[in-house]
Amino acid sequence: MKIVILGNGISGVTAARFVRKMSNHEIIVISKETDYFFSRTALMYLYMGHMRLKDVQPYETAFWQKNRIQLIRGEVSTIDFHEKILHFDPKFRAQETILGATPSSVSYDKLVLALGSATNKFGWPGQDLDRVQGLYSYQDVESMEKTSQDISRAVIVGGGLIGIEMAEMFHSRHIPVTMLVRESNYWDMVLPPEESKMVGRQIVEHGIDLRLATGLKEIKGNDQGQATGVITNPGDQIDCEFVGLTAGVHPNIRWLKESGIETDRGILVDEYLQSSIKDVYASGDCAQMRTTRAGRRNIEAVWYTGRMMGEVVAHNLCGNQVAYDPGIWFNSAKFFDIEYQVYGQVPVESSEKLETIYWEGDDGEKSIRLIFEKIQKE
Ligand SMILES: Cc1cc2nc3c(=O)[nH]c(=O)nc-3n(C[C@H](O)[C@H](O)[C@H](O)COP(=O)(O)OP(=O)(O)OC[C@H]3O[C@@H](n4cnc5c(N)ncnc54)[C@H](O)[C@@H]3O)c2cc1C
Repeated sequence: MKIVILGNGISGVTAARFVRKMSNHEIIVISKETDYFFSRTALMYLYMGHMRLKDVQPYETAFWQKNRIQLIRGEVSTIDFHEKILHFDPKFRAQETILGATPSSVSYDKLVLALGSATNKFGWPGQDLDRVQGLYSYQDVESMEKTSQDISRAVIVGGGLIGIEMAEMFHSRHIPVTMLVRESNYWDMVLPPEESKMVGRQIVEHGIDLRLATGLKEIKGNDQGQATGVITNPGDQIDCEFVGLTAGVHPNIRWLKESGIETDRGILVDEYLQSSIKDVYASGDCAQMRTTRAGRRNIEAVWYTGRMMGEVVAHNLCGNQVAYDPGIWFNSAKFFDIEYQVYGQVPVESSEKLETIYWEGDDGEKSIRLIFEKIQKE
């Protein structure tokens, strides 16, 4: 059987690895981004000079051949689900890659779509100017590297996890940063007020110009089509030569909308990660569960769920029916010097049914929160 996996991120590569552990099926993994799988979570360290691309690639080059996983670099532009063929974009095929020439098409018996996410853009005037970009792909880091030489200020729009990473990246190169955060405290739709304020203080202590309750109205540009500043929602003008768009991501599936596969925000899948089309699965950031489990969301764009889904898909491809069960929610992140970990549901606001114990260190940089359900007396 020929299994084609579109996407060489954590989800696609985990699916490939587990199919190989369980079978002798032919495996092809395709990506337009890089020849070899790398850790997306470590992208910031490339720009900060802590690591090179080869340092964030978990497997040696020989791994792929040894495990008989064929890699193809190329951009798939259309999928014919009826004929079971993927067609490559001819423009991309002209590019040289280590993996050799990209074919014009590839057929499959079973297909895994592990397409990842794309940066949100909300139709802001100027959002497509030069020197305006998100932080998702290896190409985004290359473009940051090129664009941010000798700039006097970067403005980052959005107060989530990727925004703070981008701020830290610029900070490491002593580039002044302004962060526009629409909410009244940093990431306060996820963090309870004390933690949200603690991270906000940490951002400010690192010299970032944090503007809370401030949105982006418009990005200004010059005659060469390059960003030169932003107008905020209260109407302030901030001059800058780089605008980072970090107001979240969405499943990277827009190019599939007319292909016949059933989608909503992501590719709709059942508990076996099977899509609406026979022999086609979706996995990782681009998959949307048809049924949402208690305490979970139907799209979860995090590393470990991508990995778990990849493993589940591999089982189902190899004929062992396994349902996706991510267990209880957990997540971790780093906000400059603060390490954050969460296990289970921590609501932003407590309720009558919940009891909370919260401790914060005198330095305002450490805290622990325990939340549990109150015992209901008869
Ligand atoms: C900067 C950053 C930091 C992060 N930090 C964390 C963290 O600390 N912890 C955490 O849990 N998560 C983190 N995440 C999220 C995590 O990295 C993602 O959830 C995860 O990498 C998604 O894996 P995936 O396999 O679903 O997709 P991806 O890793 O996005 O892989 C999809 C691949 O498919 C390719 N592709 C898509 N369409 C096509 C096409 N048509 N043709 C060819 N190739 C195609 C893409 O180019 C891409 O290479 C971070 C994300 C970013 C951007």
